Amino acid sequence: MDRKVRVRFAPSPTGPLHIGGVRTALYNYLFARRNGGDMILRIEDTDSHRFVPGAEDYINEALAWLGIKIDEGVREGGNYGPYKQSERRDIYREHVKMLLDNGKAYIAFDTPEELEAARNATPNFQYDASTRGNMRNSLSLPAEEVKRLIDEGTPYVVRFLIEPGRDVVVDDLLRGKVTINSSILDDKVLYKSADDLPTYHLANIVDDHLMEVSHVIRGEEWLPSAPLHVLLYEAFGWKDTQPQFVHLPLLLKPDGKGKLSKRDGDRLGFPVFPLEWHDPASGAISTGYRESGYLPEAVINFLALLGWNPGDDTEIMNMDELIEKFSFDHCSRSGAKFAYDKGRWFNHEYLQMTSDEELARLFRPILEAHGVNNNDFSDEYVARVVGLVKGRINFVADLWDQAKFFFQAPAEYAEKDIKKRWKEDTPEILTQLIEVLKAIPDFSSAAAEPIVLDWVAGKEYHLGNVMNAFRLTLVGECKGPHIFDITELLGKEETIRRIEKGIETIKA
Ligand code: GLU
Repeated sequence: MDRKVRVRFAPSPTGPLHIGGVRTALYNYLFARRNGGDMILRIEDTDSHRFVPGAEDYINEALAWLGIKIDEGVREGGNYGPYKQSERRDIYREHVKMLLDNGKAYIAFDTPEELEAARNATPNFQYDASTRGNMRNSLSLPAEEVKRLIDEGTPYVVRFLIEPGRDVVVDDLLRGKVTINSSILDDKVLYKSADDLPTYHLANIVDDHLMEVSHVIRGEEWLPSAPLHVLLYEAFGWKDTQPQFVHLPLLLKPDGKGKLSKRDGDRLGFPVFPLEWHDPASGAISTGYRESGYLPEAVINFLALLGWNPGDDTEIMNMDELIEKFSFDHCSRSGAKFAYDKGRWFNHEYLQMTSDEELARLFRPILEAHGVNNNDFSDEYVARVVGLVKGRINFVADLWDQAKFFFQAPAEYAEKDIKKRWKEDTPEILTQLIEVLKAIPDFSSAAAEPIVLDWVAGKEYHLGNVMNAFRLTLVGECKGPHIFDITELLGKEETIRRIEKGIETIKA
């Protein structure tokens, strides 16, 4: 059957989107784009107890930051709306009625206490064909009694009538056909009269059907509900349009077995959320990839490879390349360890591909935050500085540590470098160096370097000691890029000023 590819990402707004959820959204997006399909964002907010203010905005903002574009959704609109489940009550009510009318579902009045008592009385109690006859529902009670209870406004739920002893086949693109027996399933609650809302199971499949979803791509934790969804499609008479399931393997702890959790991030020092999250209830703040200095392109590339590969060992791929190469053929069936170090590596690589001008732009607020007056430095200067040090950074914020001496003369000098490089004759040699530098007409790296090196050689000074002492006065420690690249950018005057200050301040 040729069917337009339509996928949905269907988060529940119960908190910040977890990085695993982002990967699910990404695979949906890549698959949709690869196949010329549509990407739907559906907000599954039927569980009012778990609703968290701000979560929906957070989801939208995170997807936008990452460049995962939604075709149909609450903000985008579309022909299959509303895209928020709490606005689809009429639709669900109508579908609950369809099931009741066809005898595929029934009404149950059991109170929480009665259910509790049944659980206590029968080990492994399950509301199903073997027990429903002893419970208070429209199958066990006389019709007049049922009518009376409803008319009196007694709260009830609608349960799915599961026929026992049937083989239910879940066809999953990654796992193949998995058969389970319907006897292990319970008569799931589909709707609650108390809040006039469906449960996840009903809303999820009614919407998948009405929104013409072709592929359900989601986390493996949803696999247990798949048999029920197959039976519901069948009960509605929609068997022919049952979407293809793809249950993605879990993201695992970086250093062991088990599911990746927020605690792993706190313990090992990496974010598990795309954006910073301010918990509205506790006020707690959790860090995000964006606020930690990751580029969205790097996060996307990193996540794409957690559970998928392009069939060769290509690692660096932008969104367009990922789309071009993506298929479930190269998706792994086992969980992917969350190798967060690799995430840092990707960020480093993407920073190298970012232009010096763009990095300079991102560096400006950091300079400002460190008390640098941005007006003192031209765009060209900042870009050239960035160009000299970017090979050493994993995050834009690292630029400060690598390059601060281009913006501020050192206020102190590293003790251990003084010990190693500042000899008794250093002040005298550096005083001579000042005269050599003063006489250099062209202060560019290429022109200045041979003149200084010739002078050192002619005097038979120890090259390492002279250059490191020189560097110490410019940088404050013995690190940084090529020294003549530093002096070229600082300029003759500032270079000489710093040597003089070093001679004055540093005592061997
Ligand atoms: N609302 C579910 C979630 O929060 C959707 C699961 C699904 O994709 O079917 O992930």
